Amino acid sequence: MSNPDVDEPALRRSRSRTTGPRARRQQLRRRRQRRLIPLALAVLLVVLLIVLATSLSDKGAAEAGTTSSTRAADTIATGQAPEADAIARARSVGANELGQVMVLMYHLVGYEESQYNRTPEEFRQDIATLKAAGYYPVNLRDFASGNIEVPAGKSPVVITFDDSSGGQYRVMPDGRVDPDCAVAIIDEAVRQGDWESRASFYPLLDVDAPDHVLFGQPDLEEPKLRQLVSWGYEIGSHTVTHLNLRKASVSDVKKQLFLSKQMLEEMIGDAYQVTSLAVPFGAYPAQASLLKSGDYQGESYEYQAALKATGGASLSPFSSAFRPYHIPRIQVSGTSLAQALAVFEKSPELRFVSDGDPKTIAVPRVVDPALSSPPQGTGREIVRY
Ligand SMILES: [Zn+2]
Repeated sequence: MSNPDVDEPALRRSRSRTTGPRARRQQLRRRRQRRLIPLALAVLLVVLLIVLATSLSDKGAAEAGTTSSTRAADTIATGQAPEADAIARARSVGANELGQVMVLMYHLVGYEESQYNRTPEEFRQDIATLKAAGYYPVNLRDFASGNIEVPAGKSPVVITFDDSSGGQYRVMPDGRVDPDCAVAIIDEAVRQGDWESRASFYPLLDVDAPDHVLFGQPDLEEPKLRQLVSWGYEIGSHTVTHLNLRKASVSDVKKQLFLSKQMLEEMIGDAYQVTSLAVPFGAYPAQASLLKSGDYQGESYEYQAALKATGGASLSPFSSAFRPYHIPRIQVSGTSLAQALAVFEKSPELRFVSDGDPKTIAVPRVVDPALSSPPQGTGREIVRY
């Protein structure tokens, strides 16, 4: 039997060349008849199938208390359509979940004379710029584990804050959150729409600079941590004392990685788990596996991801070359954010664009070699289009 989709256009062309109204009418009648025969057969077949299915389902229901034909129909309905939907959706938004993602690094938010300072106005503008360019925030832990929940067509961006200065989260004497601190500025962006309260905070626990110990308000240390978590932010470790892990002994590295995690988890409560780490100064210990796991006084600790302090945009967590304990960051100062955004403007094929479904990895058939290929066994369905 020939494929009608392939043959019909050719038939139409050859017949239309025949001339004469009578011959044309006969041809039309014959063609209508030829079309009616398969149609009648199809209707007959459908009727037969319905009769058969009804009798089978009655029988099955009577025997087992369920309808096997209904279940078979469900399987067929869900077996093909979602995949086609996923491909269509990925294509319509130009999804590329092997693209690169910016992990932004902030320190001070305020008016200090420092390359690590961002003024409230600059930070407000950074978010507005990201929003306008189609970015959407995710926490570092979710980025690193591939649990990227952003709307279809948007690009994830990770905002990180190191060193817990007051400008990141300050409560005023009347109890209101300082409208010029980072948390309030993000909240303002959330209220304006198209944004969520997502960012990862890496606070310090015991340093000589009081303004850098858990956002500089000793009475509010615990409530602030809990509040951040309840708003949807992530709390990670930045060690206890901002220890230089490259210079520290193995036992000191283990001690600080264990204790910082334990102290934060105790303060936050509610079985919260600290799973990511920002390496102070980006100075890695000689034995980098200590960042992943280790033990201290007979108890063990584990981290799922660790952040560097430099390195530009990160590879996708789905790239086979992604290194979860060496995630690079972009320090936001001067025009560095504008420059990073310009790279993606110039080479949009390098940019991570979500298909809106965190359970699938949507990738174009052809991706830039710089992005590498997806690894096996991520547990997620790969949607190629
Ligand atoms: Zn730091």
